Amino acid sequence: MARKLLYNGTIITCNAENEVIDSGAIGFEDEKIVYVGKTPDDVSLYEETIDLKGDIVLPGLVNTHGHTPMSLLRGYADDLHLQTWLEDKIWPLEAKYTPEHVKWGANLSILEMIRTGTTTFVDMYDYMDIVGKAVDEAGIRGVLCRGVIGFGSEELLQSKLKEAAEFAKNWNNAANGRITTMLSPHSPYTCSPEYISQIIDKSVELNVPLHTHMSETKYEVDKNIEDFGATPVAHLDSLGFFDRPALVAHAVHLSDADIEILARKNVSVSHNIISNLKLGSGIAPVGKMLAHGVTVSLGTDSVASNNNLDLFEEIKSVATIHKGIAQDATAISAEQALRMATIDGAAAVWLGDKTGSLEVGKDADFIVVETNQSFYYPRHNPVSHLVYSGSGRDVRDVYVQGKQILDNRQFKTIDEEKILFEANRLSRMLAE
Ligand SMILES: [Zn+2]
Repeated sequence: MARKLLYNGTIITCNAENEVIDSGAIGFEDEKIVYVGKTPDDVSLYEETIDLKGDIVLPGLVNTHGHTPMSLLRGYADDLHLQTWLEDKIWPLEAKYTPEHVKWGANLSILEMIRTGTTTFVDMYDYMDIVGKAVDEAGIRGVLCRGVIGFGSEELLQSKLKEAAEFAKNWNNAANGRITTMLSPHSPYTCSPEYISQIIDKSVELNVPLHTHMSETKYEVDKNIEDFGATPVAHLDSLGFFDRPALVAHAVHLSDADIEILARKNVSVSHNIISNLKLGSGIAPVGKMLAHGVTVSLGTDSVASNNNLDLFEEIKSVATIHKGIAQDATAISAEQALRMATIDGAAAVWLGDKTGSLEVGKDADFIVVETNQSFYYPRHNPVSHLVYSGSGRDVRDVYVQGKQILDNRQFKTIDEEKILFEANRLSRMLAE
């Protein structure tokens, strides 16, 4: 592949120094970044050059929690209590899912994530071979796991675990390393301690991390204490869950002791601020977690509870809502919110050496934001504009491992029209 250079842009690196380069450039060859800095005087060393005309380049975003096939349920059930929403609305419809629903639901989500600048996403669902194939074809990066719910006969549980383990083994480092895998008990309230222990043992055997939902609602925490005599955090810790690399989604209701455990055991947290707000679950104590050194990243959760996958919305929410809660306008700066969606997100899923910042030697995973529109004028501060004024709909180009997958808002690897058509057709069948 030719050496390519994008120049005359604002490069937001999200490196350790949080460097922002005016009149900057990014060069890459094959899948790796070979240059980040000022626009060189002589750009002729590069075979292909693109003049950014002042547009912003930043690392591709990292969405650390979701369920892509659930996009077919967008707008189907809103404004209900979590338990009613799940048990009366979502689960009955999901029970009708076929592999075809998974395929087109996953594709719809992937389309939307690429369109809004996400280049790496975490996914937990069933029929994950189909999701893996969709990730491979789309050219995006996925951290995937077959989520297991511990309901049913012992035989069924063992077959689910076997399936999850086979998926984790077969797909780890697939698609030129763009896919990595985890094992995932759905949650401490849907899996018995014995079942969770078996999943932990399997993660040791396969050397893959663990992912789960945890402490999403106060009800869940109270019930866990009633059933097991411990908070979900202490419960999982006593089972050895956090002796493995682990990513937990939600972590809304935490005691101080819980936060200390998460910090001490280096647990990654996926903060799903909009999903938690929409389901009325509460707001995670992000300020406290950050003060203890916990790695906090951002997740959308599924479209069913969000209702889109534009991670820019999470970035703005995290940088505003936590200020309101703390009654402190210095809480979570724009820079910090952006890091949570880029380099901290990459670190949360153990990909910090590959993606999440623009640095020589890393994979060329980056996005270009079109700035010739009102939201980016006047040109005071590009990070502020991205976080407080911009949106994922401003993303024009997307590159993963140096391959362009969105070009001037046109998809290069996937068929948008077909995905929209099939998603609509299948969602109508579901609701019948
Ligand atoms: Zn979830």
